[in-house]
Amino acid sequence: MTTTRDRNAWTLHTDWRDEGNCRDEDPELFFPITRVTSGDEDDLIVETEPPYPVPRAKAICERCTVAADCLAYALQNGVPFGTFGGMSAYQRELISKPMKRKRCPGCASTELINEGKHEICGSCGVSWDVGLLD
Ligand code: SF4
Ligand SMILES: [Zn+2]
Repeated sequence: MTTTRDRNAWTLHTDWRDEGNCRDEDPELFFPITRVTSGDEDDLIVETEPPYPVPRAKAICERCTVAADCLAYALQNGVPFGTFGGMSAYQRELISKPMKRKRCPGCASTELINEGKHEICGSCGVSWDVGLLD
C-alpha cells in the first residue's frame, strides 16, 4: 500500500518537473487513486490506481518537453505509482520486464523496431530490453 506521505517524498527533487506541462494541472490527474475501505473494524484504507493513465493526463504528457526525463526518472527509481512520461506505474512495470513484445506497453502500437537487445516503439518512442535471446 502506498501512502500520501510516500508519494510526496517521491515527487521531491525533480527539477525537470518545473518545466513539465503538468505544472499547472491538477495533480489528481497524474496520481489518480481510489481509496477503498476494507470495512473491517480497523477501517483499513487501501489505495489503488488504475492500470492506465487518465486520458487527459496522457494527452498533457504527449505535449511535454521533459517527458523523456520524467519517464527515465520513474523507471530508474522504480516509482510505484503515478503517471510519468505518459506511462502509468502498471505500464512502467510491464516495460521493466525484459521481453520481446507484439505491442508497445505504452501505446499498444505494433510498429516495433528491433535493435538487437532492445525494441523501440516507432509510435511513442518508448524502448525496452528484450532479454536473452536463444
Ligand atoms: S511527462 Fe507528463 S508527468 Fe512528466 S513532467 Fe511532463 S506532463 Fe508532467
Ligand atoms: Zn508506443
